[in-house]
Amino acid sequence: MRLIRDFTCSNGHTTEKFIDSTCEAIDCPDCDETASKIISPVKSCLNVTSGDFPGATAKWLRGREKGIERERKAVRNNGPDAAWDVARTR
Ligand SMILES: [Zn+2]
Repeated sequence: MRLIRDFTCSNGHTTEKFIDSTCEAIDCPDCDETASKIISPVKSCLNVTSGDFPGATAKWLRGREKGIERERKAVRNNGPDAAWDVARTR
């Protein structure tokens, strides 16, 4: 079973990743540390990551990818602080 889980490394990078449900740790993409699974990431009352709501999961994923793309674009154009402005207006 594939799930979306949050991982955090000892340098404080948080990474969201599709993993097998048995996976407990990944390599942090931002550094070379091992990032371990964050337990119980409660993001909304509707658990879109469970797979019980396929439509909601797809919608959530699409919105999330769009948000990330907007943040990347803002950072490219205006520097790291711009990501916060995008996150606030989302
Ligand atoms: Zn890291």
